[in-house]
Amino acid sequence: MRLGALEAGGTKMVCAVGDETGKIFEQISFPTKTPQETVPAMIDYFKKAKVEALGIGCFGPIDPDPKSSTYGYITSTPKLAWANYDMVGAFEKALGCPVGFDTDVNGSVLGEAVFGQAKGKDCVVYVTIGTGVGAGIYMEGKLLHGMLHPEAGHVMIRRREGDTYPGKCPYHKTCLEGMAAGPAVEERWGKKAIELKDREEVWDLEAYYIAQALYGYILTLSPEMIILGGGIMHQQQLFPMIRSYVKEMLNDYIKTEELNDMDHYIVPASLNDDQGIMGALELGRRAFAGEKG
Ligand code: ADP
Ligand code: ZN
Repeated sequence: MRLGALEAGGTKMVCAVGDETGKIFEQISFPTKTPQETVPAMIDYFKKAKVEALGIGCFGPIDPDPKSSTYGYITSTPKLAWANYDMVGAFEKALGCPVGFDTDVNGSVLGEAVFGQAKGKDCVVYVTIGTGVGAGIYMEGKLLHGMLHPEAGHVMIRRREGDTYPGKCPYHKTCLEGMAAGPAVEERWGKKAIELKDREEVWDLEAYYIAQALYGYILTLSPEMIILGGGIMHQQQLFPMIRSYVKEMLNDYIKTEELNDMDHYIVPASLNDDQGIMGALELGRRAFAGEKG
């Protein structure tokens, strides 16, 4: 089956053609300009590829509720050209095929749960820590939506004593995203994140904040695996630090096999950065089969 996949991001739109096994035949990316400039090029690409269904993992917030009148829209994004844009409508109309739609991070967790290291697990959390912080949640075969979709990057965290950074989130100041996303790290320390790679105090503070959020996710959702991706997580030294803070915060309150094996519990993404696009293929497959994402 020929499936189209679109990973819609704030800087680029990754488009791919593949199949239901997660195999990617070809891939291309377009810079994210305005919908008027970027969408026709993508439509043209998928038309020529003769896809039978399309899956879209999209930056947000979005409306993923098929019962809503604005289903398939990008809603209140700060990327103004895309605010209130009918993403699903544009592709459905032009391609005449089923279109699956979810958040980019739900796409990523779906890719890992169906094709990657989280195969066979019931509850998986995927967190991306990059320009923003977002989390996708896979729960018993489905992606979690509830009233909207998780916005778990904006959970509140406790400031560490001595950190005077005011926080960068325009809505909440000192939520996880406001304190630990790439732009916050860069503003707090006055350098590009990558240039800070040898500064242990930078990553220790970063791990402390990320661990607080994971601690909350663990106690609330009881995930069997937590996958961390995004630009900031290229700093691999964060993994052992985060695992150790999470362990300390949990303080042996719960005991599980997973928590006994932290190295396989809090892990990097497994699909060579293709988890998002592979998840979008699966969103397309599910749309074609009439299954709920
Ligand atoms: P986006 O979130 O826009 O999709 P990324 O996940 O690549 O993109 O995140 C970009 C952020 O991650 C930037 O703030 C950047 O400074 C930071 N970043 C990118 N690469 C690295 C790296 N190797 N080490 C640390 N931080 C990085
Ligand atoms: Zn926030």
